[in-house]
Amino acid sequence: MGNFTLKIDEELCQGCGNCIVVCPVSAFSDSSIAGGSGSDEQRNFGVTTGAVKIYDPEFCTGCGTCVSSCGYSAIEIEVQEPQKLEVKLSADNLWMTGEKAVVYDIIKKEGPLSIEQIIEKLEIPNRLALNLIFTLKNENQIFEAGKIEEDHKVGYIYTSEPPMVEEKEKEVEEVAELTVDLEKAEKLRKTIDSVIDRFNTVKIRFMLETGKLDRVKEELVTKLEKR
Ligand code: SF4
Ligand code: SF4
Repeated sequence: MGNFTLKIDEELCQGCGNCIVVCPVSAFSDSSIAGGSGSDEQRNFGVTTGAVKIYDPEFCTGCGTCVSSCGYSAIEIEVQEPQKLEVKLSADNLWMTGEKAVVYDIIKKEGPLSIEQIIEKLEIPNRLALNLIFTLKNENQIFEAGKIEEDHKVGYIYTSEPPMVEEKEKEVEEVAELTVDLEKAEKLRKTIDSVIDRFNTVKIRFMLETGKLDRVKEELVTKLEKR
């Protein structure tokens, strides 16, 4: 275990289980306990009688994910002795706690860095480094900046700079060529004319039947003028 203790305030804890679900150690160590599943014996911590109980204090890497997930401020990471690693919190990582902030800080200041370089610089165990790096990556705090292939092994380097969004290639709009089929246009004109004629015939017949002779005259004159 590191130089810290994960502490739960049972008075404040509402037993919602958020902290258990988000814990990356559970998620990465065993799929049967990921997301809070599994028995009390299997799990590192779990909700018992309405509050979180820690079954195995050794598992905790101090990443702080559960601290920020708790809406009731029921979890804290108590540091027992001065940190070997000096953590200078910047405006960017003030919300982070524990060793996660240290990893973020070194990547931000000295990145891009490979996992091996991070382990070497911080002198932390591999498993802890992997947990912290994957947690930061899943939270979109750090990003893969490239691949390293060595001795048939593939590794990644990490940066705190989000990848540049590639400028979308401008789509060239194809202007549809406007072609007019004169034969079709003529047919259409004739159809429209015949519809108007039929409409006028019905209209004039109606006017004659209702005795509106002046309107009939007016309609016929207009029609003749249009021709
Ligand atoms: S410690 Fe916080 S997040 Fe975890 S179960 Fe209790 S209230 Fe929920
Ligand atoms: S500090 Fe990290 S490793 Fe420890 S219990 Fe919370 S989420 Fe899990």
